[in-house]
Amino acid sequence: MRHPKVLTRTLTAALGLGLAVSLGAAAPAGAAPDTAADRGAQAYAGYAGSAEEAKANQAFFDAVMTSVAKKRAANPSAAAAVTVVYSAANAPSFRTQIARSTQIWNSSVVNVRLVEGSNPDFRYYEGNDSRGSYASTDGHGGGYIFLDYRQNQQYNSTRVTAHETGHVLGLPDHYSGPCSELMSGGGPGTSCQNATPNSQERARVDQLWRYGLASAFKG
Ligand SMILES: [Zn+2]
Repeated sequence: MRHPKVLTRTLTAALGLGLAVSLGAAAPAGAAPDTAADRGAQAYAGYAGSAEEAKANQAFFDAVMTSVAKKRAANPSAAAAVTVVYSAANAPSFRTQIARSTQIWNSSVVNVRLVEGSNPDFRYYEGNDSRGSYASTDGHGGGYIFLDYRQNQQYNSTRVTAHETGHVLGLPDHYSGPCSELMSGGGPGTSCQNATPNSQERARVDQLWRYGLASAFKG
């Protein structure tokens, strides 16, 4: 579920803070975002998890959107399509999957583009976590995607990466969906190889980002 009023308030608050807090650069390069225990206190959305995680989608999307919003506020003449910048420096084992996920999303939607670069709006990390892969926030307002080694060996790794990236673009988990749906995540089982969003998912992302940040924050 989306909560437009909460989002709008959060954006206003974030912009009201000015540029004192650097949201996108909160996590130090080369380090894990937090300990597993610390991450447990944060909202997160897993690849194969419970419905309780659903609310975490909004926290992550909010963090990414706030970072993007600050950049666009500083550059009002930015292109109509919103650019979301990521760093893959902390997930070297998944460079191929991240590049493929980026290619999939950028060829599936038109109103938002993923680009690798400096001063990222979110980061990919890799490691071992019993909860598997997930999208989360680092406790400092920054969004990140964690890719779990074991889960990425069990499931199609490009699908896992593209699924978690779907959270960046605002899509919630829907574990009961079929394999043809990207946001069904681990629901269809380890045999599911589809790493491409279906037409409904594409349309939803383009709807969310249609007027840049304005529509995303108004729902
Ligand atoms: Zn998910």
